[in-house]
Amino acid sequence: MTIRHPEKIKKPANPIKKKPSWIKSRILNSKEFFLTKSIVNKDNLVTVCQEANCPNITECWSKRHATFMIMGNTCTRACAFCDVRTGKPEKLDQFESIKIANAVYKLNLKHVVITSVNRDDLPDGGSNHFYDVIITTRKKNPNTTIEVLTPDFLRKNNSYKKVLDADPDVFNHNIETVSNFYREIRPGARYHGSLQLLYNAKKYNKKVFTKSGLMVGFGETKKEIIQVMDDLRESDVDFLTIGQYLQPSKKHFPLNRYYNPSEFKELKIIAKEKGFLMVSSSPLTRSSYHADEDFAKLKNIKININ
Ligand code: SF4
Repeated sequence: MTIRHPEKIKKPANPIKKKPSWIKSRILNSKEFFLTKSIVNKDNLVTVCQEANCPNITECWSKRHATFMIMGNTCTRACAFCDVRTGKPEKLDQFESIKIANAVYKLNLKHVVITSVNRDDLPDGGSNHFYDVIITTRKKNPNTTIEVLTPDFLRKNNSYKKVLDADPDVFNHNIETVSNFYREIRPGARYHGSLQLLYNAKKYNKKVFTKSGLMVGFGETKKEIIQVMDDLRESDVDFLTIGQYLQPSKKHFPLNRYYNPSEFKELKIIAKEKGFLMVSSSPLTRSSYHADEDFAKLKNIKININ
């Protein structure tokens, strides 16, 4: 009998399912696309568009919409759905806030989305750095609205408050998946911890719009998706995004199935009935996809309600 050493037993690869016709992203390498690329590359800025291999990059960058990822390109967690690299991150770049502010200025953005890797190695989870980036970006670009997509700061004592002290226009924290899949897909996070963070954020800064998003296609049921909607509404979340999970590689969590466009429309109708002010639900929806247009609509809705 051959004894196999555990370390030599390879995990089975998860084959990638062929994409359906409605998932194809557009090839549109326009002049604007290369302008965005040169502005982003000039200061070695990191974008989630590139790091996560986003399928919308040609469309977004052709409209100069890049989503900045601060605190480096290496995440301290290893979520099973995510394509961002994992490892020991580098030291924070003390000039990053200035570089982001300048890039937003050069791109002439009306609305900017700023996200980050998880920095569980930092005592505050990186919340002070978020604060600096928001303040510096606003100073240089007073008419640009700022949306942050934050980690959970490892549920470190009140870290989120520092981010909200900088008065971002939108505070986004993604719930990512239904509660049942957390252990496998998002082991470093807690479903109820993320809900609590969103609830606390709204309570702490009543001016801020809160936003969250989830991916579908892991094998969740419709009932579980609706439960997430209810839980997010309980946490007073204003805006919801729902998009298709695209398995980045054979090493990532296996895709269970592709939802078709009419299923996304149905989820949008259900979510709107739950009371979200704005819902974006389509195969290629991502947190930052069309975030500028959605925020403009959201502002108008809020003005009409008040
Ligand atoms: S959807 Fe977001 S992450 Fe993807 S390319 Fe557009 S701005 Fe970048």
